[in-house]
Amino acid sequence: MTDKHITHWIAGQSWTGTTERHGDVYDPATGAVTGRVDFASIAEVDQAVGAAAAAFKEWRHASVAKRTTVLFAFRELLNAKREELAAIIVSEHGKVHSDALGEIARGLEVVEYACGIPQLIKGGFTEQASTSIDVYSIRQPLGPVAIISPFNFPAMVPMWFFPIAIAAGNTVVVKPSEKDPSAANFLAELWKQAGLPDGVFNVVHGDKAAVDRLLEHPDVKSVSFVGSTPIARYVYETGTRYGKRVQALGGAKNHMLVLPDADLDLAADAAVNAGFGAAGERCMAVSVLVVVDPIGDTLVEKIKERMAGLTVGPGCNAASEMGPLVTGAHRDKVTSYLDAGLADGATLAVDGRTHSVTGEDTEEGFWLGPTLFDDVKPGMSVYNDEIFGPVLSVVRVGSYDEGLELINSNPYGNGTAIFTNDGGAARRFQHDVEVGMVGINVPIPVPVAYYSFGGWKASLFGDTHAYGPDGVHFFTRGKAVTQRWLDPSHGGINLGFPTNN
Ligand code: NAD
Repeated sequence: MTDKHITHWIAGQSWTGTTERHGDVYDPATGAVTGRVDFASIAEVDQAVGAAAAAFKEWRHASVAKRTTVLFAFRELLNAKREELAAIIVSEHGKVHSDALGEIARGLEVVEYACGIPQLIKGGFTEQASTSIDVYSIRQPLGPVAIISPFNFPAMVPMWFFPIAIAAGNTVVVKPSEKDPSAANFLAELWKQAGLPDGVFNVVHGDKAAVDRLLEHPDVKSVSFVGSTPIARYVYETGTRYGKRVQALGGAKNHMLVLPDADLDLAADAAVNAGFGAAGERCMAVSVLVVVDPIGDTLVEKIKERMAGLTVGPGCNAASEMGPLVTGAHRDKVTSYLDAGLADGATLAVDGRTHSVTGEDTEEGFWLGPTLFDDVKPGMSVYNDEIFGPVLSVVRVGSYDEGLELINSNPYGNGTAIFTNDGGAARRFQHDVEVGMVGINVPIPVPVAYYSFGGWKASLFGDTHAYGPDGVHFFTRGKAVTQRWLDPSHGGINLGFPTNN
């Protein structure tokens, strides 16, 4: 079935033109092409930005009360229709249904946070900063903002940004991943039903051509990007060169450090959940398990037992715990690391190619079962590269210090976790580790919506994290006002620089 046509959403409606370029959309569980997505040209991106710029003229004046009302309505609709949205995500991404519901729940959290915008954008006020002079600050929207998102969270990642952007009075152009584009259109329709004025939320589909146009378009005031590190770096460098505010979140290689005093059953559960959930296609997935010996053999055995029991199958089957990879090309790339790891001298403790797939019509799907490498060392490609698949590497170290050194030497710094029952060691780790998000006996420490999400080093370019207080800061600019209400005759001439008195 290839009849699904996915196109842009501009000024409150589906785009009606025809486009020269398009991409195929797959059902990763069956390998079948299920739809076709339009790829925007420069002219089409300009149309979307034009709609956003026109809508900004009105939306920036909308009262905080009006904006909040629309956000609450959107929140209700999203909550009511999350099953429908989850099914769309499963059909194009491949993740299991419960996982899709999880990403929607985490996106909803940000919507709920943005419903508190009246409180979040309150400024400061200082009465009588100088004699008869008051000073206060206000925060105002930027204008049209661009959001460019990856395939792995087609609903949640855009929702890290647009609820706050819209609540703060900006207008938005989202460029979703071309691999699973339909979720963004579904969200666009919800906004319309929620009463958001046309043009405040727009979607353009496409590839590099669309991204490049957003980066250089003079009316786009900021860019929020999430994706792989090379593209994040490119987006940051290009966007800032064009004078834009840019936050570009990149890839990851997340290490989980297990100390000998840890609860090993808890650690084994956590490693399997965080290593193989969403088939490892999460930027916060645990991809490296750093085990302080002598517990290595015991922990590896516990992990292997759990891996053997995992049900791999189509995301729409309630029994499935892990789905396929997003495309055939990505599955082949991930699988190539199994041979590379073996050639580099790592031990292939569990070979995911032999794991059975439970489900019908799956012969042509993009499958690879959970895979475990032991005796991995820095320098091997399975250690160095972000594989972004169900491949977990075990590195054995002799001490806490050696483990910490390994983590801090890694170029990425998105997430990390320590498993221990020693509060002192955990506290030291949280203080010394050079990573933006840290879990203590928690494997995927994605911060709640009222904190901010972001990695360090090659995992984030820019100085502002996503959502939470950083998100509010990113999508607004500050203005400081100094006021005096006095008869001008009380002024007097004084050419000196103003000082307080
Ligand atoms: P990707 O970098 O291939 O694509 C991300 C976006 O950039 C997509 O919209 C894509 O169309 C666009 N793009 C791709 N190539 C481009 C180019 N040459 N020029 C301009 N734009 C381009 O990433 P992906 O494969 O969709 O997603 C997986 C990656 O995202 C992983 O590296 C993962 O770690 C990362 N990720 C990071 C976070 C985080 O918070 N740090 C969250 C989710 C995903």
